[in-house]
Amino acid sequence: MDTNSQLTLHEHPEDIFPTLNAAQIARFSAHGKLRDVQRGQVLVEQGDQNVPFLLVISGEMEVVRPTIKGEDAIVVFHAGQFMGDVGMLSDRRSLVRARMREAGEVIEMDRSSLQELIQTDSELSEILMRAFILRRLELIGHGWGDVVLLGTNNSSGTLRIKEFLTRNGHPYSYVDLETDSGVQQTLDQFQVTASEAPVLICRGQSVLRNPTNQQVADCLGFNEGIDVSQIRDVIVVGGGPAGLAAAVYAASEGLNVLVVETNAPGGQAGSSSKIENYLGFPTGISGQELAGRAYTQAQKFGAKMMIARGATGLQCGRKPYIVEIEGGVSLQAHTVIIATGAQYRKLPIANLSRFEGTGVYYGATFIEAQSCGSGEVIVVGGGNAAGQAAMFLSQTAKHVHILIRSAQLADTMSRYLIRRIEENEAITLHPYTELVALEGKDRLDHVQWRNDQTGALETHDIQHVFLMTGANPNTLWLRGCLVLDAKGFVKTGADLSPAELTDARWSVTRNPYLLETSHPGVFAVGDVRSGNTKRVAAAVGEGSIAIQLVHKVLQEWSAHIV
Ligand SMILES: Cc1cc2nc3c(=O)[nH]c(=O)nc-3n(C[C@H](O)[C@H](O)[C@H](O)COP(=O)(O)OP(=O)(O)OC[C@H]3O[C@@H](n4cnc5c(N)ncnc54)[C@H](O)[C@@H]3O)c2cc1C
Repeated sequence: MDTNSQLTLHEHPEDIFPTLNAAQIARFSAHGKLRDVQRGQVLVEQGDQNVPFLLVISGEMEVVRPTIKGEDAIVVFHAGQFMGDVGMLSDRRSLVRARMREAGEVIEMDRSSLQELIQTDSELSEILMRAFILRRLELIGHGWGDVVLLGTNNSSGTLRIKEFLTRNGHPYSYVDLETDSGVQQTLDQFQVTASEAPVLICRGQSVLRNPTNQQVADCLGFNEGIDVSQIRDVIVVGGGPAGLAAAVYAASEGLNVLVVETNAPGGQAGSSSKIENYLGFPTGISGQELAGRAYTQAQKFGAKMMIARGATGLQCGRKPYIVEIEGGVSLQAHTVIIATGAQYRKLPIANLSRFEGTGVYYGATFIEAQSCGSGEVIVVGGGNAAGQAAMFLSQTAKHVHILIRSAQLADTMSRYLIRRIEENEAITLHPYTELVALEGKDRLDHVQWRNDQTGALETHDIQHVFLMTGANPNTLWLRGCLVLDAKGFVKTGADLSPAELTDARWSVTRNPYLLETSHPGVFAVGDVRSGNTKRVAAAVGEGSIAIQLVHKVLQEWSAHIV
């Protein structure tokens, strides 16, 4: 254990700062080069890119965080210990400064050699990956990054930037302009006013006033290591569970893969407070944690990820395919996987997102039913999904209120469901009714709804609301390139009729593979696909299956057998 460490959150410091034995060090020597280093020599500066992996052979290396006031000591590494965290895998800029406290020798290794070692040496891979992940968690826990966010917790801009940094696993310190002392001094130093918040200060240099996520990503250099001129084996559009799974399998199977994500990794699952039905996590896992692990796993295998850059178009009438990206960049790939998911239609209630997962749900499964217990519940929506949810919830809930804006269900719900609902004493239908307010502290406590005909407002102590108003697929950017179903989801495989394929000028002699769209080598997976099952496991499964089919298509292309 390193007694000089300031990182204290984890109960097993030896996992964060392992000391390698002679045999393990010898395996590094084969990949890196030995360097003499002097006392006081800075080996890595905060903000450096292409940061090398450094293993101390002799001497002492201190890692510090430059701050506005000077330096925060983080850790001192001795012989057999190494510097680095997960940022190294994705070619992110260094968050810290590394300096020799005592002269000695280090083994220096570039990122691609490090990645090769991690992929081929399972023992070292385990030691390094565990240390890298734990170090990043510690930095996040302490708020030790290279950015300071000034804001207030009731500002949606502040919350957006916090969420963006968190979902990208980027540590930051936060200054609350309403509650922290000494705020004025910081504001004066950077010549900003409280009214300009949220303000992001990058590495003590650039000051961004209410920046977009894209500006934050640019300032932190999230996408700097990505070569946009390469023709990739596969471009995955969307970094939710389906896209991340495709990235992990593609990269681990040696494909040159780039993921393009309009916001941050994780997708809808990233906003789920606890996923309890994903295989292998009997006590549940937060969507954020699952996405964070998947993201790191994809980076470990060498997948590239372009953050805060949405796809705006697909040129599917040519090969290689071109994916157009915000900012006018065109990316080329032999195959494309569309994993852009869907957005649940949300109600225009300002604080809705605060209660997602803690009172507001988008699916009615056994798990949600259990968390409702025997209380009253609300189902919003008049389609079959809403009807099924109401019937299901009526088995356990004290009472189910269905709120619809129209006069009746007849136009939107199947007759059999309407009959069952009418016969069910535990269900009340409220026509012409809209949910207008949600209230509560940590969880939803009560709701307000309005009768649109009379204007009457009613408040009810109901803690569980199911929004079954459907989902819109994120397919507008495809602009007619692929065959979609009536609701805009991408049709694949056997769902594509011969007539649709003819219209789409299907260009090969075989039929589309499972998950393949109306263009050969373009696949759709997860929630964006017509007929999807709206489950994390299904999205992950489809992402991995698609890679097997990508291999097939690449073989066909190279052998010209289609
Ligand atoms: C609150 C909530 C709780 C849930 N809980 C559960 C649960 O407990 N269990 C379960 O199995 N399922 C759950 N689900 C459903 C599950 O999250 C989804 O089925 C799953 O996330 C679908 O994965 P996906 O990758 O297909 O799409 P998404 O998760 O929607 O990801 C799509 C990604 O694509 C990105 N994107 C969109 N357009 C573009 C573009 N033009 N360019 C680049 N990127 C783009 C988005 O930003 C997003 O990151 C929940 C959903 C929600 C909303």
